[in-house]
Amino acid sequence: RTVYVNGEFVAEEAAKISVFDRGFIFADGVYEVSSVIGGKLIDNAAHLARLARSCKALSIDLPASGDEITAIQKELITRNDLDEGVVYLQVTRGAADRDFPFPKVATPSLVMFTQVKTLVASKAAEAGIRVITTPDLRWGRCDIKTVQLLGAVLAKQAAADAGVDDAWFVDAGGDVTEGSSNNAYIVKDGRIITRALSTALLPGITRASVVKLAAETGMTIEERPFTVAEAQGADEAFVTSATTFVTPVIRIDGAKVGAGTPGPVARRLREIYINHALKTAV
Ligand code: PMP
Repeated sequence: RTVYVNGEFVAEEAAKISVFDRGFIFADGVYEVSSVIGGKLIDNAAHLARLARSCKALSIDLPASGDEITAIQKELITRNDLDEGVVYLQVTRGAADRDFPFPKVATPSLVMFTQVKTLVASKAAEAGIRVITTPDLRWGRCDIKTVQLLGAVLAKQAAADAGVDDAWFVDAGGDVTEGSSNNAYIVKDGRIITRALSTALLPGITRASVVKLAAETGMTIEERPFTVAEAQGADEAFVTSATTFVTPVIRIDGAKVGAGTPGPVARRLREIYINHALKTAV
């Protein structure tokens, strides 16, 4: 596999980053994951716009323009002959002697790699996934897509230990914030309910597309918090992200959601989203 590191395309075994890189030392960096279908990038412009927003929020200088980053993403797709999967990209503040405040001189690092994944013909989407809920122990700026992901790591490990697929974060007030790496939704009486954007959750790129597509299709969307009990009593539940598109959730903490099988709204939205993705891929 060829990876990209600070201006160079190199074999993954030969790729090098400083041990003083602040991404490694402080998780002082941000990332994006763009999906690839048929060798083309899905919703990529929106991912790069969020990258710019994340960098701005942390005062990290973007090391390349959106067009330059897109060109590198495409070059990597070509070099790795990637048909279906993801391009991961990460920007960190760069390497400097260890000290907390921003260094006076540091050149931001830009790293990218590809991963092969089956996205469209996903078994998880076909069968639906089971989730547990877990206290949201993350920090107060979950709207910034930082590489500081221990909250998600521990939540996903708890899910694996419980023998299920994923975890939903629950805030101190008992409301669901989002999934460990996706946005969370429920459906009740035909209405789609998802938490409104705030500093408590990531503004998902897939969320933005799905909310827009659902509205265009005449579906009703209610942006408000919901509790675990409300989710367990819903007709359907689902998650969205760049890698899962729209994936039904069939059990929450062991309780069946609806019939305990993927519901019609989630299925329809998945189909609509994939059509949009294929039509707009670049
Ligand atoms: N929330 C969190 C915490 C995530 O990590 C992700 C995936 N990066 C999402 C939501 C979904 O965002 P997107 O649709 O942009 O992949």
